[in-house]
Amino acid sequence: ATPTALLVGTGRGAQLGILIKGPEVLESTRRADTILLDKTGTVTTGRMTLLKVHVAGATDETEVLRLAGALEHASEHPIARAVAEGAAARVGALPVPEDFANVPGLGVQGVVEGRAVLVGREKLLAEWAVALPEKLRAAKDAAEKDGKTVIAVAWDGEARAVLEVADAVKDTSAEAVRRLRALGLTPVLLTGDNKAVAESVAAQVGIDEVIAEVMPQDKAEVVRKLQAEGRSVAMVGDGVNDAAALAQADLGLSMGTGTDAAIEAGDLTLVRGDLRVAADAIRLSRRTLGTIR
Ligand code: ADP
Ligand code: MG
Repeated sequence: ATPTALLVGTGRGAQLGILIKGPEVLESTRRADTILLDKTGTVTTGRMTLLKVHVAGATDETEVLRLAGALEHASEHPIARAVAEGAAARVGALPVPEDFANVPGLGVQGVVEGRAVLVGREKLLAEWAVALPEKLRAAKDAAEKDGKTVIAVAWDGEARAVLEVADAVKDTSAEAVRRLRALGLTPVLLTGDNKAVAESVAAQVGIDEVIAEVMPQDKAEVVRKLQAEGRSVAMVGDGVNDAAALAQADLGLSMGTGTDAAIEAGDLTLVRGDLRVAADAIRLSRRTLGTIR
């Protein structure tokens, strides 16, 4: 939040943990009819854990964990943390990559122990013309149907494994969605993750509309499109990849538990990262607006 941040309705806003950038924000809370909710870290806890490793052919599971874990150790993405921690717990100390790059919305790539390693979405592998063999494809499809996030591991031009990670829905999210609906807002889940996982999370919290597999740089475009349809769009997010969309939205709400980039881009900050407070913030802002007028 900026130094000019005000607390909505002061006393009550402070209690709830809502920071607002300025009085002009209040008007947007009145008009908003659609609310985009980022999945990872907003609707879900974002604390993922590594559940399973499925290997192809003669691939050694320990090798998969060493190489994937080494690369993900250099990334701060929630999935990366799950893979690095899960790998270290299973195989011990991890090597240090010779080369590393984040590929936003897709995964990570780099060199570990002389091997060119990719960890991320199938789309990342496809960019290097690497396809999943049948066994890994089947494991991936089954896990995704089960609502898991699945990431692939490849090195030296071959897909070697898929990893299952899972991220729990926050126990406050379903209640938050109910409160947002009660205010007349239509909730939409927005995520870079795949459609199957997105739909599973949406079903758990009572959201009917899902926009999935959206690249970080395209989230703002989704907001613009909805605005072009005449909708007034609120957006809640926590990640670096949400910042542009939060800025584009008519009302940007950032999770105080999220990244600085998201907090700076938002109009309103939910200090404790509780999505239920998004509804409270909008209700309180509308009421404050009524009092001022
Ligand atoms: P969200 O929009 O839900 O916050 P992201 O845009 O950060 O998700 O990521 C989209 C997808 O890209 C993830 O679901 C994952 O499949 C893949 N991905 C991104 N970063 C990584 C990483 N470091 N390791 C593995 N997969 C990743
Ligand atoms: Mg996120």
